[in-house]
Amino acid sequence: MADNPIKSIRVRFAPSPTGPFHIGNSRTALFNWFFAKNHNGQFILRIEDTDKERSKPEFEEDIISGLKSLGLNWDEFYRQSERIEIYKKYLEKMLEEKKAYRCFCDKEQLEIERQAMFSQGLAPKYSGHCRYLKDEAINNLIKENKPFVVRLKVPEEGEVIFNDLIRGHIKFNLNLLGDIVVAKNLEEPLYNFSVVVDDILMKVSHVIRGEDHISNTPKQIIIFRALGAEEPIFAHLPLILNSDRSKMSKRYGDTELRLYLDDGYLPEAIVNFLTFLGWHPKEDKEVMTVSEIIKDFNLKRVQKAGAIFNIEKLNWFNKHYIASMDIYELLEKAVNFVPSEWPLTIQILEAVRGRLTKLSELEKFVEFFFIRPNYPKELLFWKGKEEFTIENMKKLYEFIKESEEKDFLTMDYSPTTGSPLAISCPSTIEKKILGVIPENQKGDYLWPLRVALSGKEASPGPFEIMTALGKQESLERLQIAITKLEKE
Ligand code: GLU
Ligand code: ZN
Repeated sequence: MADNPIKSIRVRFAPSPTGPFHIGNSRTALFNWFFAKNHNGQFILRIEDTDKERSKPEFEEDIISGLKSLGLNWDEFYRQSERIEIYKKYLEKMLEEKKAYRCFCDKEQLEIERQAMFSQGLAPKYSGHCRYLKDEAINNLIKENKPFVVRLKVPEEGEVIFNDLIRGHIKFNLNLLGDIVVAKNLEEPLYNFSVVVDDILMKVSHVIRGEDHISNTPKQIIIFRALGAEEPIFAHLPLILNSDRSKMSKRYGDTELRLYLDDGYLPEAIVNFLTFLGWHPKEDKEVMTVSEIIKDFNLKRVQKAGAIFNIEKLNWFNKHYIASMDIYELLEKAVNFVPSEWPLTIQILEAVRGRLTKLSELEKFVEFFFIRPNYPKELLFWKGKEEFTIENMKKLYEFIKESEEKDFLTMDYSPTTGSPLAISCPSTIEKKILGVIPENQKGDYLWPLRVALSGKEASPGPFEIMTALGKQESLERLQIAITKLEKE
């Protein structure tokens, strides 16, 4: 099954905690995770926090809790800020082996060089000035404590070629590069360097990351080679775009994963949606469980073209999962979206879940179950017709009063285990009431009944509401409606 049967599959997700967890970046995590799971490999989480100014612990927490919310688990965890000594050792080794050198040029000098190259019509790159400093000169400058960066000796000619699993052969001309800086000083390695050292030490087999990193790849390959290591296999995922094909940005909608979770998008829906941002399964289907995706996941079916982030599609997935997910599981999540003093039940949830796009809408949909509604009397009139409304309501009241509490139950029980299942069958009260209302007067009875129970122009049906409210509360609401009608 593995692409390379000798090497075990090890991938890493390597976020920089310099901002809230981006939903697009969570797709990178997911694809790595699916790839690892599909190959029975390992998934490594590596926090790349060497940029001291921009990295913040709260962003790291946001990333970790986001990954957990999506159900992603990792086999190993590393934090780059705790590995500075390791990078230092490798920097020293490269200096010793003369694969890298200290560059003492200051900003002004470099700027003068750049301008000179520009005016000669050349693409600016480092001149290599310090590459040729004699040992003695270097030692003197070190003694003087003159600050330096570490530069890698990059071959002046030739090209770096790699075979990206998604984008195919990519060629990069070396003479454009110049000697690249790999560390600001021995304690401050730059991103490209620490990534490579870690990918080597962590035995990463595949680097799966966003396409925006493609320009770093040749530099990293040169570093791998300088360190005497073979580079991993690369796979660069397509960009995520707004509907107008511009790069996904806040201006078009939320980019933070946390905001989607807080808004009541279910992790199942988010995962399913993100999986299809650039990937498609063997068979033509859209709704897939995590284990189905794991089984089917393959980088060969990742597209090159940018993937459009379509919120309507995410809404569609979310609606689907809210409507079809196990009701008890949904209840567990849903309670977080209503005030804690509202005792949400599966009956209430079952009555409204078909109308929800996201759980943040739940509160307004269920409010009337917990707070007796206020509504104008006229709303009780079926098609605006007042005649017989009060009589019909009174008949319903008497009829319901005579019924038994258990008529309001609608629970289905599993024939095998006997445990309660989702409510689906009509309740006895529904059958009984429908049995006594004349066929051609349904609206005359059921409209005012529903309004009396919900106070709303549009709501779930009266029987769903009644079974959720129970006999006593249903009767009291009917009485309130009757009193409203009598007060004329
Ligand atoms: N730390 C980098 C980022 O957050 C990713 C590094 C990589 O995947 O190579 O964009
Ligand atoms: Zn220099």
